[in-house]
Amino acid sequence: MPDVELVLRSTRVITPEGTRAASVAVAGGTVTAVLPHDAPVPGGARLEDLGDDVLLPGLVDTHVHVNDPGRTEWEGFWTATRAAAAGGITTLIDMPLNSLPPTTTVDHLRVKRKTAADKAHIDVGFWGGALPGNVADLRPLHEAGVFGFKAFLSPSGVDEFPHLDERRLARALREIASFDGLLIVHAEDPGQLAGAPQRGGPRYADFLASRPRRAEDTAIARLLEQARRFDARVHVLHLSSADALPLLAEAKADGVRVTVETCPHYLTLTAEEVPDGASAFKCCPPIREAANQDQLWQALADGTIDCVVTDHSPSTADLKTDDFATAWGGISGLQLSLPAVWTEARRRGHTLEDVVRWTATRTARLAGLEARKGAIAPGHDADFAVLAPDETFTVDPAALQHRNRVTAYAGRTLRGVVRSTWLRGERVMADGEFTAPKGRLLTRP
Ligand SMILES: [Zn+2]
Repeated sequence: MPDVELVLRSTRVITPEGTRAASVAVAGGTVTAVLPHDAPVPGGARLEDLGDDVLLPGLVDTHVHVNDPGRTEWEGFWTATRAAAAGGITTLIDMPLNSLPPTTTVDHLRVKRKTAADKAHIDVGFWGGALPGNVADLRPLHEAGVFGFKAFLSPSGVDEFPHLDERRLARALREIASFDGLLIVHAEDPGQLAGAPQRGGPRYADFLASRPRRAEDTAIARLLEQARRFDARVHVLHLSSADALPLLAEAKADGVRVTVETCPHYLTLTAEEVPDGASAFKCCPPIREAANQDQLWQALADGTIDCVVTDHSPSTADLKTDDFATAWGGISGLQLSLPAVWTEARRRGHTLEDVVRWTATRTARLAGLEARKGAIAPGHDADFAVLAPDETFTVDPAALQHRNRVTAYAGRTLRGVVRSTWLRGERVMADGEFTAPKGRLLTRP
């Protein structure tokens, strides 16, 4: 074992056993020991005393649209991974769509990896895509190291990534189950969407009515049925409708292999406060009412919802028009997820340990990375965020690192300042300054 080269000391280190004063020893980019706070620093090792700032595991964000290559005017690996590092995220898994090509064949995966290689400020992995007609590509993609496969049950918003109907969903799921892969699903039912009033225009209430809860509920019911049929592993992406929670809780209790995520915007923003014409708040499924949000928090507390991810999905500012029907749907959350979720979690009586469980531990497990990511424990990568949890700041779009500084959080006062972010024992971000990219490209372990 290499000699300890670094010790990070804090009165508040979040470990799997709880929060405690500790000194974390790092060698070769890996945590080797979590020692008492006053443990002697080995000769030759550098001590980094963080005082009362909290040392937490770097966040693992399994839902990010980097859009690179192909739509790099929307976002790219350089800017997205800087925004992530600024937000305390040390691993992201890139979604297979909005880039050109989409990640739907091994050749396309190769293109994506090549594009990301020298631009990644944090570790980056890739989801594959399940489309009509690419069933034969799924196993090769799995073997090439994608973390699982994304499918839509309704139109995705981009032509090159069509959705799966019932029959094609079954076909993809049967194939993915044959190698015990994971299908992650955008669950809105196209029939329910088509039956909802599509008024368009700048009124948020009209947009909300056009993507009703029952569209999610119906699609989730269909998905669960298929997951039972094939004993397949499925994951519900960006849950917004609280009405689907009883169904999900029941499926979990029955042993269906389903996990569920929600996003910072569903947990911290409400339909009631979205100004008309403000399509920075547009995403699909939509941000819903405050009463719905309360139930999402309850589901996080009781475990029906497993984790919180950003669904960072930017576009150029000109596509964020004031018509909710045609504006690009997507919210940029990489840099602000941790403070946004922490601010609201704290207000509701949750702890920072809860936030770490939702944004690091459980997401690492979803991706199969739990042996190295998502916890401060011996044998794990020395990936950390250092957080001043009580300090507040007001969101200034000019301070954001993602390419197009459109944000639904502008002007909000949030609690929790990320002072620095560490990747395998190296400080890659400190007070908004970054090192050269040191991220690695990850494959499914
Ligand atoms: Zn998404």
